Amino acid sequence: MASLSGSMRGYMREPRLMSVKKPVLYVVSPCYNEAEVIGAFYDALKAVLSSLKDIDHRILLVDDGSSDATLDVLNALADRDERVLVYSLSRNFGHQVAISAGIAKSRGDATIVMDSDLQHPPTLIPEMLVSWRAGHDVVSAVRRSTDDATLFKRLSSDGFYTVINWLSDTRIEPGAADFCLMSRKARKVLAGMPERHRFVRGLVAWMGFRRAYLPYVAPPRAAGHSKYSLRKMLRLALDAVFAFSVAPIRLATRVGVGIAALGALYLVYVIGRALWLHDTEPGWSSLLGTLLILGGLQLAFTGLIGEYLARIFEQVKGRPLYVFKQTPEERPRRATSAAAKKNARTEAPLEFANEQG
Ligand code: UDP
Ligand code: MG
Repeated sequence: MASLSGSMRGYMREPRLMSVKKPVLYVVSPCYNEAEVIGAFYDALKAVLSSLKDIDHRILLVDDGSSDATLDVLNALADRDERVLVYSLSRNFGHQVAISAGIAKSRGDATIVMDSDLQHPPTLIPEMLVSWRAGHDVVSAVRRSTDDATLFKRLSSDGFYTVINWLSDTRIEPGAADFCLMSRKARKVLAGMPERHRFVRGLVAWMGFRRAYLPYVAPPRAAGHSKYSLRKMLRLALDAVFAFSVAPIRLATRVGVGIAALGALYLVYVIGRALWLHDTEPGWSSLLGTLLILGGLQLAFTGLIGEYLARIFEQVKGRPLYVFKQTPEERPRRATSAAAKKNARTEAPLEFANEQG
């Protein structure tokens, strides 16, 4: 009897052991007018995530105010798969803000940020998880080349990383864009940064932590076209420069002091000549030239200071970084048939208990 009660105790304990929760991985993807490609992205991502037996997952999709059927496609995916969470922004806030919104809403033990156009291959995820399990808080995928990148895109990208690394104290790895995994700790630090003009890969680099780099080759877009217009690329580059460097504003001071010193020397020289050689000519054209150059420089540097000031102004206004027009709780539910509901329950019921914070 005693041995029976002993084995029963063991039996009673077992369910507790079995209910040890798996870690949860959140995959955050921004989607802007990606209706054509989302289906293929979801299939490829789900195939990889379902094959990972020792980790549960959520797919957090952020619709960045798309004007096509993206939100409907995302909602249809969430109808089918309870692990899909859909957030929709009230307008197009831009890639970096959409990512930030997704990171703020993500929970769980690790978060991967990746584009939804299949240029960030989901097949890299298992390797990222290996690095994370080995103790890295940030695992960045580094693009070695892009199969269909234009010469302009390659040159402008190389030039940008050279300039930003020259200007900034924070080293930003060329090719390490926003495809990365973050531990819970790193994700929380990033989510807590209130900066408005967000250059996420710079913020990630600034955070520090133990970081690993995984090289990959970016395939061409699976469908659709790039949503990064030249204007958006320029804005991102300027955000990076002004958020990560005070070098331009220091340059203004240095150039100003340099020009003033040259002007003073020139004045001494002119006065000297006038006193001893008496051969100074009234040089109107050179005077006008100097005036124009100085006036132009002054305007340029005032504009530069204005850039920083405008950013400070935007920051102190304290508006929210983004506005949701739909959260997972507000998703319009399609009337699902009893059979579909039964089907949905074949997957393990979701537990959010270990995903808080
Ligand atoms: N994206 C976004 N908002 C935007 C522009 C882009 O959410 O205003 C998303 C887009 O859906 C994609 C990712 O950001 O998942 C990267 O954009 P894209 O592929 O167009 O950029 P590229 O790879 O050409 O640099
Ligand atoms: Mg792309």
